[in-house]
Amino acid sequence: MHFWDFHTHHEGRPYSICQAGMNTTETETHLSLGIHPWEVVLNWEKDFEKIKQKSVQNLRVLALGESGFDRLKGPQISLQKEAFFAQANLATRLEIPLILHCVKAHDLLLEYLKSEKNPPNMIWHGWNQKPELASRLLPFPIYFSFGKQVLHPESNSAKWLKICPINRVFFETDDSELKIESIYQSASLSLQLPVARLAEQVVKNWNAISKRKIS
Ligand SMILES: [Zn+2]
Repeated sequence: MHFWDFHTHHEGRPYSICQAGMNTTETETHLSLGIHPWEVVLNWEKDFEKIKQKSVQNLRVLALGESGFDRLKGPQISLQKEAFFAQANLATRLEIPLILHCVKAHDLLLEYLKSEKNPPNMIWHGWNQKPELASRLLPFPIYFSFGKQVLHPESNSAKWLKICPINRVFFETDDSELKIESIYQSASLSLQLPVARLAEQVVKNWNAISKRKIS
């Protein structure tokens, strides 16, 4: 049994998807590649071509991202949108998930989901939004990754975890110093499920939405 960490900025950890951004780190076993919404530049197509090439060839790239929209930081939204659409299409084509970064922009995501016939499976990372919004996303292929916020029982994150369909759940450390085990431990208490059962469940969840399997 392994406690998979589905989104982390820490390098060199086994059973984790390391957020590599635009550069593949040769030492990482599993990674996600993408253009972060903060880092979209005018000629983002050049960066995208590199990501496309690497993610097609390298099966250690388990996911694309993090990609998405951010109204608080980064370049103008129209540019963020272009880069997101390209990455989302690529994720659909490769049949791997996209790690989603979405800040003050759920309207843009819903607009995309309602108009796109073939969206990829997307994992909204660091979920800490209201359960009402989460419920509105359930008709779409949106999954939720729970991180440090889940340790606080009063957080939106912890509230949603309690009622979220179990097949939509993932866990992550992101850039925090927490150990992934403590996130599983906390989720296990709140869901009244043994940690081993949770660890098994999330691997199953991953394999159900990705062509690039984990074990
Ligand atoms: Zn992150």
